[in-house]
Amino acid sequence: ILAPVTVIGLGAMGSKLARTFVNNGHVTTVWNRTPEKAAELVGLGASGATEIADAIAASPILIICVLDYDAARHILEPMREKLSGKVVVNLTTGTPEEARTMGTWIRNHGAEYLDGGIMAVPSLIATPHAVILYSGSQTAYETYKQVLERLGTSHYLGSDPALAPLNDLALLSGMYGMFGGFIHAVALAGSEGTKAEDFTTTLLMPFLQAMISTMPEMAKQIDTGDYSAKDASLAMQAAHDTIGEVSRVQGVSAETFAPIFELMKRRVEEGYGGDDFASVIELIRKRPSS
Ligand code: NDP
Repeated sequence: ILAPVTVIGLGAMGSKLARTFVNNGHVTTVWNRTPEKAAELVGLGASGATEIADAIAASPILIICVLDYDAARHILEPMREKLSGKVVVNLTTGTPEEARTMGTWIRNHGAEYLDGGIMAVPSLIATPHAVILYSGSQTAYETYKQVLERLGTSHYLGSDPALAPLNDLALLSGMYGMFGGFIHAVALAGSEGTKAEDFTTTLLMPFLQAMISTMPEMAKQIDTGDYSAKDASLAMQAAHDTIGEVSRVQGVSAETFAPIFELMKRRVEEGYGGDDFASVIELIRKRPSS
């Protein structure tokens, strides 16, 4: 028997989540502050709750996906006496601290808490490209893993609810770093007329894919603290700011590249020129508290 599911919040994301459960045959109850947004889902077979209390009573698992944690808390606060025995899965985007506070509050009201970070846009939900990060109650995750996997590939990161939002932000930072490199590379090649599309598909993507394959080795260096250079030392890489200088000559701003180069130079100046690139992390990572 499929678990009944309640979805609270029917914005762009919440409606897609709810539709996915309906499509997979779950008895799905939906609630939204603006009730009109439930109409389409009800047409597909969802049950539209007028009162939030009815939506909460309808299912053992409550999936909440609203604008922010303030909105989530605003909805759940008056219902605190009704949460006992439920599993609350909060897929609203927020900070690690917000997730911890929400987790404590939910547990104090007798419910299990899972925080989630959705690494996908609504159109990717329920496709192989959707990834959702979870942290919080392991029991809740294991009990409802199959339900949660309807939405996309799930990764459970640990019992601290802060882990999902923290890793969500870390992944996005990785993405923006890559996008920053992408626009500078395209601008530089484009300064002599190369079309972005040709350059991207023929040259940049294969090159970046090759570079991505070096990441596990860099990650190992970071974990072990052994950064001894094998192929390309930092001193060699930071000897000249050729990329910055050529950018200026070509009339291209190097402002996405410059901060990385500054860190590489600083690391060399501090005596680590013989290290590999990964050693630059020592300039930015959290210091162990003494
Ligand atoms: P929308 O703006 O489409 O929907 C926002 C939802 O929040 C609506 O259901 C809205 O209700 C509700 N809401 C806002 N304020 C309140 C409030 N004070 N009380 C009750 N309900 C409230 O946003 P999305 O659906 O796109 O996003 C929802 C969450 O999912 C966000 O945290 C977002 O960061 C996250 N997310 C979204 C992604 C996306 O691509 N869309 C990707 C990954 C995460 P009403 O209809 O009444 O206004």
